[in-house]
Amino acid sequence: MSLDNLHVDALVVGGGIAGMQSALDLGDQGFQVALVECEPSIGGKMITLSKVFPTLDCCSCITTPKMSAVAHHPNIKLFTYCDVQSVQEADGGYRVNLVQKPRYVDASKCTGCRECEYACPITVPSPFDRGLGAYRTIRVPFSTAVPQVAVLDMDYCILCGKCEKVCAAKAVDFNQQPEPFEIQASTLVVASGFELTPLGAKKEYGGGKLRNVIDPLMMERFLAPTGPYGRVLRPGDGKEPTSIAYVQCAGSRDTTLGIEYCSRVCCMYAIKQAMLISGALPLAEITIYYMDIRTFGKGYEQFYQNAQAMGVEFIRGKVASIREDDDQNPVVKVELTEEGRTIERTHDLVVLSLGMVPVPGSNTALNLPLGSDKFIAIPAPNASPCATAHPGIFVTGAAMGPMDIVDSIVTASSAAAAASAYIREHKKEAVYA
Ligand SMILES: Cc1cc2nc3c(=O)[nH]c(=O)nc-3n(C[C@H](O)[C@H](O)[C@H](O)COP(=O)(O)OP(=O)(O)OC[C@H]3O[C@@H](n4cnc5c(N)ncnc54)[C@H](O)[C@@H]3O)c2cc1C
Ligand code: SF4
Ligand code: SF4
Repeated sequence: MSLDNLHVDALVVGGGIAGMQSALDLGDQGFQVALVECEPSIGGKMITLSKVFPTLDCCSCITTPKMSAVAHHPNIKLFTYCDVQSVQEADGGYRVNLVQKPRYVDASKCTGCRECEYACPITVPSPFDRGLGAYRTIRVPFSTAVPQVAVLDMDYCILCGKCEKVCAAKAVDFNQQPEPFEIQASTLVVASGFELTPLGAKKEYGGGKLRNVIDPLMMERFLAPTGPYGRVLRPGDGKEPTSIAYVQCAGSRDTTLGIEYCSRVCCMYAIKQAMLISGALPLAEITIYYMDIRTFGKGYEQFYQNAQAMGVEFIRGKVASIREDDDQNPVVKVELTEEGRTIERTHDLVVLSLGMVPVPGSNTALNLPLGSDKFIAIPAPNASPCATAHPGIFVTGAAMGPMDIVDSIVTASSAAAAASAYIREHKKEAVYA
């Protein structure tokens, strides 16, 4: 891939499901698109999930073809492992300064053969598996990564040279430096997605301290066919859990955290995971502690009822705190709001149903006005649901606020349609070739 400065019709920031869909819609209409992703592979959160509610289809089976379609689209240029440094208005469009982070692997030579990975002696926790699994310091990020290009983590590398020796393509390059480049675009589509509320945000729940209190993306990795262990276990001691609890609204609808909104997907992903655990561990007892169950989408209420019919226990109450007993079992203290009393129950594993928050720093270069929820503001949601305060910059997916995959795809197509109309309208002044 050449990093010569490029002129495109649209630049999409973020290669999750929303960014990929916007890029594909624009590319299919004949526009030249650049898709920029800060991670070594596109796919976003969706490629890490197990199955999707409410259909329980395999997530990888839906996401991988989209990733491949983006990579092979004649009108889409993919830039992975790149950071957006600054965005300026210029010549009726936008000038975007980016930097290609060093992979220490020449992407134009790497064949994705993984020989370097097999030779590397240093093992590090895998961010793709939320730190549960391990992978080598140099590796192809995951089996279905796009692009299939290795990346080396210099923080852990001991420079033993074994990877360089086995690489037949001579792709390993310890001297790579960050490479700045520029893209000029008539319009931008921001699809930078979300992060989970930090696991330790609510101190009284012990997240990040109690080893058997985990986040929901960890549970997705336990349940995924591509997961690190191929089964559900407790990170504390590797034991198979027989009693698993979910704590709802653990980072949403919470004024003490300044996160007052409902994150919309947590009820549904907790119910989904409970159903999947019932299949993986048929004898396990699964309890969901909740204040309200919100199943707003098409087919979602039926999904909730199915979980109840399968024997998932739903307890209405506010979890006050979680502590650990002598065997590392989380003990949950719950105020039963309808009965006016408090109980304590012991489980093997607790999943905090964390909320969705904006990706820290993702708006620094763009400097778009934010709403009171700190997601990118939409000044006229009923008239232009994907338009930001800056003309020609559109937003889609969870960068707008918490949403599920269906809504991410709908807003992605909506942002692409708005961007397409904007490009056509401003074609005369636009600077692209
Ligand atoms: C535990 C869990 C389970 C879920 N299960 C389901 C489910 O079963 N069904 C369902 O419908 N929904 C589910 N969801 C919701 C689903 O994950 C989101 O709807 C979806 O991932 C949103 O897609 P997105 O593209 O907007 O964001 P993301 O998936 O977050 O993708 C954003 C992408 O942008 C990149 N990025 C961020 N900042 C920058 C930057 N500055 N420059 C370049 N790139 C950047 C990120 O690296 C990422 O690749 C679940 C969510 C969670 C937390
Ligand atoms: S860097 Fe070399 S050995 Fe490693 S995957 Fe690429 S081509 Fe194969
Ligand atoms: S040089 Fe670094 S990345 Fe390569 S094999 Fe040695 S430790 Fe691994």
